[in-house]
Amino acid sequence: MNETLTFPLSERVTSMAESATLAMAAKAREFKSRGIDVISLSLGEPDFKTPEHIQEGAKKAIDEGKYFAYPPVPGYQDFREAIAKKLREENNIPCEAAHIVVSNGAKQSIANVMQALINPGDEVVVFSPYWVSYTALVELAGGTPVFVEGSIDNDFKATAKQLAEAITSKTKAVIFSSPCNPTGSVFLKEELEAIAEVIKAQDNVMIIADEIYEHINYTGESVSLASLPGMLEKTITVNGFAKGFAMTGWRVGYIAAPEWLAKACTKIQGQFTSANCSIAQRAALTAITSDLTPTYEMAKAYRSRRGMVYELLQQIPGVRVNLPQGAFYFFPDVSSYFGKSNGETTISDSNDFCMYILEKAHVSLVPGAAFGDPNCIRLSYAASEEDLKEAVKRIKTVLSELS
Ligand code: GLU
Repeated sequence: MNETLTFPLSERVTSMAESATLAMAAKAREFKSRGIDVISLSLGEPDFKTPEHIQEGAKKAIDEGKYFAYPPVPGYQDFREAIAKKLREENNIPCEAAHIVVSNGAKQSIANVMQALINPGDEVVVFSPYWVSYTALVELAGGTPVFVEGSIDNDFKATAKQLAEAITSKTKAVIFSSPCNPTGSVFLKEELEAIAEVIKAQDNVMIIADEIYEHINYTGESVSLASLPGMLEKTITVNGFAKGFAMTGWRVGYIAAPEWLAKACTKIQGQFTSANCSIAQRAALTAITSDLTPTYEMAKAYRSRRGMVYELLQQIPGVRVNLPQGAFYFFPDVSSYFGKSNGETTISDSNDFCMYILEKAHVSLVPGAAFGDPNCIRLSYAASEEDLKEAVKRIKTVLSELS
């Protein structure tokens, strides 16, 4: 291939930021391919295997020989019915199959919603810190992200008051995640109720509640925004199988939304991908209709790792860290290291910090700037206890070489 020939790419792609989580994971893989023993704490990916019975569900679907053709665009009817049942019974969201659209991961679910709702010039209020792809997906739809910011002092949770102040006549949607990626914060019932009041007062604003980490929640309280009075018609609930069922590679996400929006997302998906992989849907159907013990076991393991990593991170001088209430991330403030040097390299921001840690400690992290907070870094503790202990030890050692 003649690689010297170039062609002007679209402004859409040239102006778009690369996914920082995936970029950092690729960097870690590149280090590993050079024989370097990298501990990868960058990607939010369970280190568990997809539970056996879910794998069996996929094998059975292949053996039955009935699932080789295009599935219906929004997903198989029985799968959508099972999702609706789960949402009614576990999340108190009164919905039916007609409200459900199954996509290639929660990321595509959000992409569909943005494409269906947003016109150029529309604003989308994003609770910050936010997951890296929210802003890119808003911008790809021609929208403008507007941020409401939480800080480490209020557990990274922006308030309903901030939300009310950020809404303008151009606001079309709001997006947040709880439990939150990257901070692990969980919005409590009274905080969600206050957010709901703000949204209900707006005729033309929808809210996207990303609940992909619902099973990894240590508060003992799990409230879906759509279950609050008056919120069903205003909320798009996003969820999927990657985190709670260790199914990242299977790519199964879904929305529950008012029917007019579910139909619009189906129309978009029909042009982009036709549907989600048939066998992955059958595997996910097995997951959602089986006993959740494996999911609870994994959540228990994350909880115990959280406690261990919290203790260890607190022992690193200059690292300020909150105890996250859900998901599997720490989001410590490392800004006290900005301006410091080991004589060779100077750390000026969270990007430099992560590169220094990758090169010297061989641990991959993600810079907080990609999530809207340049003082922080994200560390995923979806890794073995042994790797986590070793990783934090290495981080501590190389940070002690900075002054
Ligand atoms: N949601 C995960 C993360 O934040 C997966 C990677 C991605 O798609 O961004 O690491």
